[in-house]
Amino acid sequence: MTSSRTPLFAANWKMYKTLKEAAVFFETFLKLLPQKMEEEIVIFPPFTLLYSISSFIGTKIKIGGQDLFWEKEGAFTGEISPLMLKDSGCHFVLIGHSERRKYFAETNSMINKKVLSAFEYGLKPVLCIGETLEEMGKGMTRQILTKQIQEGLKGVAHSDFEKLVVAYEPVWAIGTGKADTPSQSNETIRFIRETLSDLCGIHEADKIRILYGGSVKPQNIRGFIEQPEIDGALVGGASLNPEDFARIVFSRVLS
Ligand code: PEP
Repeated sequence: MTSSRTPLFAANWKMYKTLKEAAVFFETFLKLLPQKMEEEIVIFPPFTLLYSISSFIGTKIKIGGQDLFWEKEGAFTGEISPLMLKDSGCHFVLIGHSERRKYFAETNSMINKKVLSAFEYGLKPVLCIGETLEEMGKGMTRQILTKQIQEGLKGVAHSDFEKLVVAYEPVWAIGTGKADTPSQSNETIRFIRETLSDLCGIHEADKIRILYGGSVKPQNIRGFIEQPEIDGALVGGASLNPEDFARIVFSRVLS
């Protein structure tokens, strides 16, 4: 973590929590937040909770959608537009999570449309990228990441790059309890920043926050955020528990 980029900790709640469960989470979590904090916190709850949550989280926490559809409105049954996310209080949106790539057949070109649409409507995209176990086994990690970055960010305006967040999430580490090592993910993230700088120049690439995601827990977070290239974490399972998530966000202060 470097001092020039604001640390970011994001909670991906996936398809978990009812409104009542979310209220219970925040009742505890809000009490654990210090008066002043340097960290930025974003919660990505299911769509159904966005509006209600935005009314009781205050200003220290931001919310985001777990996905969006690229059109502003129209006959697209079941989809949520960037305008609707903004309307529900969102500042961020997750795009290209591996579960969407895998179960909903999202391609890099669909992801690219979503990224461009997020920027157009003033949402900060958190672009998720990462290789599968098979791809890693074949030594294809860098090739896969390069393709995901180049195709996913095609046509992004130079001035928008600094608002971008990238989450490096090796697919084999998500929900498996087998996190990447801090040093290996730091090296991969350094490579991701270099690849981004080919698109937008080193000056802009230096401002982009790149998170690590994949089986982050209170017990292993320190190793990741001590790395110079890692600007925070995208947390799935461990973000569902308020104490665990707080221990992850504030690990530098708490220990
Ligand atoms: C995720 O869903 O983005 C994730 C990183 O999950 P977990 O922390 O449970 O591995």
